[in-house]
Amino acid sequence: MTPEEKKAFEEKLYSWVGKEIAPPTPGLDDVNEAMIRHWCEVMGDTNPVYTDKAFAEKSAKGGLIAPPTMLQAWSMEGYPMAFADDKDPSEQDGQRQLHAFLSENGYSAVLGTNSDQEYFRDLKPGDKITAHTIIDKISEEKATAMGNGYFIETRTTFTDQNGETVGTMQFRVLKFKPAQAQAPVTEGTDNAPKPPTRIRSVRGHDNSWWWDQVEKHNTLPIQRCKGCQTLRHPPRPFCGECQSNEWDFIASTMEGEVFSFIELHYPEIPGYQYPLICAVITLDEGTRIVSNIIDCKPEDVAIGKRVKGEIMVVDEDNTIPQFRLV
Ligand SMILES: [Zn+2]
Repeated sequence: MTPEEKKAFEEKLYSWVGKEIAPPTPGLDDVNEAMIRHWCEVMGDTNPVYTDKAFAEKSAKGGLIAPPTMLQAWSMEGYPMAFADDKDPSEQDGQRQLHAFLSENGYSAVLGTNSDQEYFRDLKPGDKITAHTIIDKISEEKATAMGNGYFIETRTTFTDQNGETVGTMQFRVLKFKPAQAQAPVTEGTDNAPKPPTRIRSVRGHDNSWWWDQVEKHNTLPIQRCKGCQTLRHPPRPFCGECQSNEWDFIASTMEGEVFSFIELHYPEIPGYQYPLICAVITLDEGTRIVSNIIDCKPEDVAIGKRVKGEIMVVDEDNTIPQFRLV
């Protein structure tokens, strides 16, 4: 884009701010017990105030309520949204038009980054929920590890049958140019793309020493307070126990156990190996570290399983601790 084209593009982009993306959208169904039960089954939420009528009536709630986190579910489009992209663009809602406009200009990828909800009252079976959504904010163009793009925030206000606001949702996505798509590719020349690497961790004054130990000395260091010997991780300047800023470090044995973990599915990020297990590991020294568990089936990972780590060169930009099940 030339600077003039960029200016025209951004003018059109920012003209979306403050606009409703669609007319107020009433829920397809009233708040109802069947959807609440299905939600609780899927989420594994066994709180009886959502599903046990007798219990709920005797509770402080006075009757069944919906889980607050179902707020958005009451006004979602349902299955037809799977085919919304097939519709003529002029019939699509404002948010899809905005995303299509960004895609046409190269910002083709999207990543959900935040969702914040506020709840003002409990919803009960029979409530009728309507969603009102506007494009609330669009950031300036940001350089991110995923590529350059714009953060788009929508704000949804949920009202009930009396027009009272029962909750709000702020939802933020990054619409970006995938980083590896930027360089033009010419086969058989030096212009061929380099294989993508993992996102390199951010280093600053308080933690670059830690990464130096990992990269140059092949150890996983744990910071130790010189005042009271308390270990701490991630690195920070002061001891949380005695406020001393004197410290040294020990080398971890890299043995420990799984404290918590998730398997990341979507979106697949270039440079990472899938399946991708991200885990919080309790080291035998007592501190915890976030890392990956590799070379295993995701279903074999469990909380409490023993792991052993090693410092690995995973790509040309990253030397990091990685763990395996023992
Ligand atoms: Zn201390």
